[in-house]
Amino acid sequence: MAWSHTLGFPRIGERRELKKATEGYWAGDIDCTALEATGAELRRANWARQHAAGIDQLPVNDFSFYDHVLDMSCLVGNVPARFDRGEDTVGLDTAFAMARGTQEAAACEMTKWFDTNYHYLVPEFTASTRFHLAGTKVFDEFAEARALGYDARPVLVGPATYLWLGKVTDDSGLDPFEPGGRLADDLIAVYQEILERLAALGVDWVQLDEPVLALDLSPAQRALIEQAYARLSQVAGLRLMVATYFGELRDNLALFTSLPVAGLHIDAVRGLAEVEDLAGRVDHDTVLSLGLVDGRNVWKTDLARAQHTLTACLARRPAAALAVGPSCSLLHSPICLANETALDTRLSEWLAFADEKLAEIVFLANAADQRIDHDQAHANHHALAARRTSVFIHDTFVQRRLAGLTASDYTRRSAYPERAGRQRATLALPLFPTTTIGSFPQTQNVRRARADYKAGRLNAPDYETFLAGQIDDAVALQEDIGLDMLVHGEFERNDMVEYFGEQLAGYAFTKLGWVQSYGTRYVKPPIIYGDVSRPAPMTVKWSRYAQSRANRPMKGMLTGPVTLVQWAFVRDDQPWAETVRQVALAIRDEICDLEAAGLSAIQIDEAAFREGLPLRRSDRADYLATATAAFRLATAGVADTTQIHTHMCYSQFNDIIEAIAAMDADCISIETARSQMALLDAFAVFDYPNEIGPGVYDIHSPRVPDAAEMSALLDKATQVLAPEKLWVNPDCGLKTRSWAEVEPALRRMVDAARQLRRAHAH
Ligand code: GLN
Ligand code: ZN
Repeated sequence: MAWSHTLGFPRIGERRELKKATEGYWAGDIDCTALEATGAELRRANWARQHAAGIDQLPVNDFSFYDHVLDMSCLVGNVPARFDRGEDTVGLDTAFAMARGTQEAAACEMTKWFDTNYHYLVPEFTASTRFHLAGTKVFDEFAEARALGYDARPVLVGPATYLWLGKVTDDSGLDPFEPGGRLADDLIAVYQEILERLAALGVDWVQLDEPVLALDLSPAQRALIEQAYARLSQVAGLRLMVATYFGELRDNLALFTSLPVAGLHIDAVRGLAEVEDLAGRVDHDTVLSLGLVDGRNVWKTDLARAQHTLTACLARRPAAALAVGPSCSLLHSPICLANETALDTRLSEWLAFADEKLAEIVFLANAADQRIDHDQAHANHHALAARRTSVFIHDTFVQRRLAGLTASDYTRRSAYPERAGRQRATLALPLFPTTTIGSFPQTQNVRRARADYKAGRLNAPDYETFLAGQIDDAVALQEDIGLDMLVHGEFERNDMVEYFGEQLAGYAFTKLGWVQSYGTRYVKPPIIYGDVSRPAPMTVKWSRYAQSRANRPMKGMLTGPVTLVQWAFVRDDQPWAETVRQVALAIRDEICDLEAAGLSAIQIDEAAFREGLPLRRSDRADYLATATAAFRLATAGVADTTQIHTHMCYSQFNDIIEAIAAMDADCISIETARSQMALLDAFAVFDYPNEIGPGVYDIHSPRVPDAAEMSALLDKATQVLAPEKLWVNPDCGLKTRSWAEVEPALRRMVDAARQLRRAHAH
């Protein structure tokens, strides 16, 4: 008999109960007992709903108050010295301190979990790192499940993935994957101890997540995986399931199938091409778990197609050696579609959130045993057929427009040097022009007015008067400060994707479709369900108004196509590139309208450009070509005199600098202050042809730097970049700061630019 299971269920609660409790605890409104009670209730409810759906094997330890990688660090006693309170058992407060930092100690770094929008806390390794069993969470939660009558399967981040996720933070030159290295050796020993404890508790299966198997691995990394599982598989009395997800195994396939474990889980969505091969290779004593239900998107599974895959597998192995699950943990999926009563019913017919995915998993596991739920199969078939032909999705106008694109649609009229001359004449900017990235402080007032307007407590004319007043003040202040290129301040915007998505055809928004991004920060990604177009101008009114109030050039402000797609749930019924091109055309329409409205500079933010990079190096060129082309398609419709800016909030450009140049923006602003301009290394090696604004002050901190600090950073920049190419701006938008910080900081920034101008005057 094939069994059904999940690799993890969303932990945040249907109504964000985890966020409320955790933040309440941080604020001192509830005590630790109350917080723990909320955690216990969430776990109980999750097991109950999975069990009720018919899932055979339930996960435990997939719950976390903050992050499962942080939990792993606590479990193996890897607490950085600055947080170490000498506890035998690392407590929740220590974990929260690591995550959030304290007055005395900077928080652990946070970074993206593979190519998802989930962020984990980076484990720190130093010469003095000593792993030891220092937690009880997984044991306690297993016991808790058992007391509720569930024989659950503990989930742990696997040792190879844990080492890969971490970072050496001292100058010891430590290599976590060094053959026979102490770090790995100690870590595996602690994993052994954990498994022994679990076996003693009567645990049957343990799931070890090793998504690193979907990455390019070095020989040393492969060797470590082999050694780790050779040792861990010796722990008597329990069975290990190694789970890989987020991609194909490719050159790691042989290693994966050779692991001496009782179960192997694969991502059968992204790794579909490998499924049959694996079904034939993996011996019949090992359970092969097929992740047939997409754990990180919102669409219904094509059950007929998944059944085909199952049938092909059943020709190669008995049903008893198969399991069915989601491709990855359901952590990345919203929880419950039934709550989305405001969604268009045509759309909700095509969706499956975590709850609905459970039913699909159970259906498929039963189907593997020839127990087919015909009602469910029919309903699924009809929903998918309707989706394929729905006019609600397919817009022939958009499709014809895409089909008619030619090379010239992707190219500015003249090359940059010629454009630069014309723009200089039109914009009349000084050397080292100053500007900001777009948003100004989203004060209480601003947020309240927007909320009141949305709730109908403030009428449209009053709201617009309010916004106009905000813009007037922002323009007057910028001119008083002496900035050279102004912005309107983005007071009308909540979020850089939502604001546009709400106005684009083909985007839908949920009410409660929250997904954890990190800790208590959850996001509600829109769903791109249909052909995208822009029915009406989205930003022209406020940009035009702002320009009319200003004596200096005003920058229009838009989010770019890659970011608008990357931060959404994306269609699975057409290639990603097609969706990005559609969005690019919609943005192109907006850019052309902004130009016609008199804006001579327009910035297109591509905050997510880098994060879309595929996990495997060999897939990157394709992605970068598509992403770059989309930017060009969006921006190439304007005259030479219109200056196109772009902004990216990060600092690693070494491996993508050529693609950045190929975007052909007239000017790019990037995050550099935090890294003290380290990123300019990339620009030193590669001669970036257009203009650059390396951020000169870190907007993530309330600290207001002085002019000398900023001009020192600019001096550094002039050593790699020609002065006539340099812009002066902060690292990112200023929406999270207060005016009390922003005003002096910008005055000092303008001073710094003036100092530089004097120094370069001759
Ligand atoms: N224009 C946006 C802002 O200033 C850019 C934000 C971003 O790229 N994260 O807020
Ligand atoms: Zn930014």
